[in-house]
Amino acid sequence: MKRFIPAIISALLLFGCSSKQIEQVDILIQHANVIDVNTGKVSTDMSLGIRNDSIVYIGGGSSNHSAMQTIDATGKYVIPGLWDMHVHFRGGDELIAENKNLLPLFIANGITGVREAGGDMTSEIFKWQSEIENGSLIGPKIYTSGPKLDGPRATWAGSIPVVTKEDAVIAIDSLEQMNVDFIKLYDSRITKEAYIWILEEAERRGIRTSGHMPFTVMLEDAVTAGLGSVEHLYYILKGSSSAEQKVTDDNINRKAGFWGSMTTLMDTYSEEQAQKTFKMLVDNDTYVTPTMHIGNTLSYLDRDDHSNDEYLQYIGNGIIETYQGRIRSAARASEDFVAMRHRLNTAFKNLVPKMSAAGVSLLAGSDSGASNSYTYQGISLHQELAALVEAGLSPLEALKAATINGAKFLRVEDFYGSLEVGKSGDILILDDNPLDDITNTQKINTLVLHSKTYSSADLKAMLDSMEK
Ligand SMILES: [Zn+2]
Repeated sequence: MKRFIPAIISALLLFGCSSKQIEQVDILIQHANVIDVNTGKVSTDMSLGIRNDSIVYIGGGSSNHSAMQTIDATGKYVIPGLWDMHVHFRGGDELIAENKNLLPLFIANGITGVREAGGDMTSEIFKWQSEIENGSLIGPKIYTSGPKLDGPRATWAGSIPVVTKEDAVIAIDSLEQMNVDFIKLYDSRITKEAYIWILEEAERRGIRTSGHMPFTVMLEDAVTAGLGSVEHLYYILKGSSSAEQKVTDDNINRKAGFWGSMTTLMDTYSEEQAQKTFKMLVDNDTYVTPTMHIGNTLSYLDRDDHSNDEYLQYIGNGIIETYQGRIRSAARASEDFVAMRHRLNTAFKNLVPKMSAAGVSLLAGSDSGASNSYTYQGISLHQELAALVEAGLSPLEALKAATINGAKFLRVEDFYGSLEVGKSGDILILDDNPLDDITNTQKINTLVLHSKTYSSADLKAMLDSMEK
């Protein structure tokens, strides 16, 4: 027996040593209600320890950790930092500074990560990203697609044109060289062939894709070619129509265009087709970003007065100027077109809870960015969550769309998206339960970002400092 004692002692010493290391944390949150975004389970009276950028401890009751900072979270609710899964940084060289200035708006709203869905300032974004990482700039973690892929003479500046199969390979080579996080496809000029080639090439290389979709393509063809996430609901509506093939053919033969197809698609909505489509999305692990809030905003530019919006004071004048594009086209729109957009907005709203019930993974995305009028950085993600719930999602489903689903889409769920030991310590402590009322995501008591805490007063001061 005796010879085992040294082994036992050294094992005890080892154990003691490692548990001593664990006992030291940067931040210890005590007596918190911790929300599991995967299940909706709320664990009460929990302690949560954060060291460096990670959660190193979660346990019930009080703990014996020594911490640089202790937070009593009695009556409060802890969730992961929120992610806005569809934003843009864009507007040309003269708007680079204004775009950069927007970054604290995300943090002031508890948004610790964004998926940047294509623009024209990719090299700047990479600079911001390293400044954010080394702590010299305050902003969210940015995942970017870099420039969009589209056809020649594309609508959005900075897009890379793809016409041939070789173009698709060269374009994806250049995106890989830039080290982008996923590929964004756009549908202003791209042919159906080029669109599918890009998807197939990206799929071959294991790169995530996200996109609009030309109406010359059947939704199922895009999804089975590998489209990772469908941005906006036009394409889901198309795939839910019993006339999708005819609408597609009419678009190929130029008998109909994108907007001209919408009434037909709404008139031919088929519950059976929709359910088939939802199942196809689930089977292919394809995500959908409904962007409801910007839909609500842009569909009603004819009716709503935004001149007194609180957030205008935080947005640069150059970016506000870009809002004029959509404002002018709304003013030019015919009465019939305006009525169609209102109807379309309702049709989209109806799709949201049906997709969720069918098991489709949804992403919460605001589409905030230059040119996207009155959809303000940061706050618009909370407005998106509210719009998703108003459409019929449960608060938990909405919360998933802004946390774990985004991490899964980007394939970083081993570190992001939920509160677990070993995962990111970027978290929010909320004053009230977001599962009771999703607008409680706005009641931020404390944000923990890179092991630094920001009280609600700090976040308010951050906002105030941005006033023009
Ligand atoms: Zn967008």
